[in-house]
Amino acid sequence: MKIELASSYGFCYGVKRAIEIAEEHKDSFTYGPLIHNKDEINRLKDNFNIGLVENIDEIENDNAVVIRTHGIPKDELALLKKQKNKIINATCPYVTTPQNIVAKMSKEGYSIVIFGDKNHPEIKGVVSYAENANDAFVVLTSEEVKTLPLSSKVALVSQTTKKPEDFLKIVNTLILTQREVRVFNTICNATFENQDAAAALSKKADVMIVIGGKHSSNTKMLHSISLKDCPESYLIENEEELQAEWFKEKTLCGISAGASTPDWIVQNVIDKIQKIS
Ligand code: SF4
Repeated sequence: MKIELASSYGFCYGVKRAIEIAEEHKDSFTYGPLIHNKDEINRLKDNFNIGLVENIDEIENDNAVVIRTHGIPKDELALLKKQKNKIINATCPYVTTPQNIVAKMSKEGYSIVIFGDKNHPEIKGVVSYAENANDAFVVLTSEEVKTLPLSSKVALVSQTTKKPEDFLKIVNTLILTQREVRVFNTICNATFENQDAAAALSKKADVMIVIGGKHSSNTKMLHSISLKDCPESYLIENEEELQAEWFKEKTLCGISAGASTPDWIVQNVIDKIQKIS
C-alpha cells in the first residue's frame, strides 16, 4: 500500500508561532490549552515546564501567562493585567483581526454578527470585544440571522475555521434584509489550503487518516471533507489509535493533519501504518 501526504497539512502559521513563543518562555503557564493537541501540550510541559491552567482563578499574581492561539475574552485579559501577570500574547494575528474589527465596528454603532460556534474559545474572545453585548450575535445558520433584532447597519465577521460557502449564505441573507452590511472575510487561508489538499487526496485514496485533536474544529472539518469522497476516513489523535484492518486490501492511504498537529506525530503515524499494513 502506498502512503501519500496531502500537499498541505498540519501546523499553520499561527500555531507554529504560538509554540515558538511558548518555547521562549520556559516555566510559564498557558491559560487554556495553547493549541488543540494534548501530545504537543505534554511535550511543552516535559521539555519547557509550561503548565496549563483551565480556570483564571488558579492563576497566581506572579505567574507568566501565555495567551493561547484562539485568544481569550477581553475582560479576562483585563483581569490578568490588573493582577500584574506577565502577559505573553500568542494569540494568532488572524484571530486578533476579527477582535479588532468587532471593537471598531461596534464603537461605530454597527450591530455585530459573528458566524461561528458560540462555545468555541475563539468566538468567546471575539464577541467580548463588542461595545454592547446586546447588539452582538453569534450565529451558525442563515435561519438564525432572520430572527435577530439588528440595527440597519451590520458588520459581519467569521470564525477563522469556517467554510466560505457557509459564510456566503449568511452574507446573502443579511444583504437581502439589511440596509448596510459590512462584510469582513476573516476566514483563515491556512484552513482553505489544508481543506483543499485533503479534498483532492480523498478523491483518489481508498483510506484516509486525518490526524488531530478530537476537539479541534479544523481537524473535524478535514475529517468531514475526507468522508465525502473516501468513506473510509478515520480521525485519530496519534498512532496508538490505528487499527490494522483499516488498511487491508487498500492501495492508497491518504494522510492529512489538523492545524494543531505537529510533524513528529504525523511521522509516528506513518511509521506505524508502514509496520501494520
Ligand atoms: S488556523 Fe489560521 S487562524 Fe487558526 S491559528 Fe492557524 S493561522 Fe491562525
